[in-house]
Amino acid sequence: MFNMSVEDIIKKIVEEKNIDDSIIREKIRQKINALSNLVSEQGAAYIVANEMGVSLTTEAQKSGFFKVNELKPGLRNISIFLRVQRILGTREFEKNNQKSKVGNFIGIDDTGSCRVVIWDHRVKMLEDGELKPNDVVKITNAYVKDNPFSGVEIHLRNQSLLVLNPPEAPELPEAQLSQNFLKKRISDIKENELVEVLGTIVKVEQRKPFFEVCPECGKRLKNENNQWVCPVHGVKSPAYNLVLSTVIDDGTATIRTVFFGRNAEKILGLNGSEAFIKSEQAGDDVFIIKNKEHELLGSQIIVQARVIKNDFSGNLELRVRSLTTNFDLNQALKDFVENLKENDLNSETNLNNSTNDSLFNNNSTNNSSESSSTTFTVDEEII
Ligand SMILES: [Zn+2]
Repeated sequence: MFNMSVEDIIKKIVEEKNIDDSIIREKIRQKINALSNLVSEQGAAYIVANEMGVSLTTEAQKSGFFKVNELKPGLRNISIFLRVQRILGTREFEKNNQKSKVGNFIGIDDTGSCRVVIWDHRVKMLEDGELKPNDVVKITNAYVKDNPFSGVEIHLRNQSLLVLNPPEAPELPEAQLSQNFLKKRISDIKENELVEVLGTIVKVEQRKPFFEVCPECGKRLKNENNQWVCPVHGVKSPAYNLVLSTVIDDGTATIRTVFFGRNAEKILGLNGSEAFIKSEQAGDDVFIIKNKEHELLGSQIIVQARVIKNDFSGNLELRVRSLTTNFDLNQALKDFVENLKENDLNSETNLNNSTNDSLFNNNSTNNSSESSSTTFTVDEEII
């Protein structure tokens, strides 16, 4: 439940008791000795703080504030502190002949991230840029809903409160602003951008899908005199990591798209050592790829990726950071097209020639994932 570091605990005791930190350190050492080294330094620090009457419970813990990983659909009247990670935009709609507005942002704390949905007058905060990435918000009296596409969501209602950058907020992780993936057409992407692309896999490269890595540090191993060598850990018996190269087409252009590690595992449905073993058994390095190719070709995928320039070919390609398959294609296209419009307006690029209709023109025949499944998986992993 607690996860304060030894240094944080010492700091807290120093602040509350106004004594020198060397005294506290000595007390912690004595406590470890007294307990015959059966307690960690952190554990001993907790005991010392407790004995000195210093409470390590944070304000949030005392007052019933939730953490993201404690949110469950159906919870009402919850309170939470969040860091704004990313603004997802706003939308106007009509319900019962009344115009309403809805806006979303992603909030994070030290346990996870979730979507926050706000309505009507509060949407102005997003539109005016009053609420922006890296701000901290205190939300009270909100409720939790399940969203099949994005997991649990916090919804604010009229009685809810949203306080911007409250002084009593606990420490929260910094927003990773670089994780802002812009929905784009392939024909519009540029080098080094972080983009989200929705397209169809039209080619799977016939290349060995696994490579040898150090089981200790994950670095790629070099083969020296028939031994696998890690630059840091020396000769190692290798673990295997996955790589999968594909070409994705969104109707505006195609782009080489490369999946590593967990992302490749997700697509291939096995891990690196399984791929290695199966390929050994089959006596064919590309056995796994050949086996999976039919299934992958023509399937729709959403990838969040960094755009890099391939040193050899000079062409742009995508290095995938996270991916989504088996989504509801109609819904995804709708979201995508809405966001594209916003991005187009924001980006002044002249897109008069491209129409949204061109998305998926090439792929009217194979839409099996559209109807068979609505599973939505999101992976924020970074390779
Ligand atoms: Zn190593």
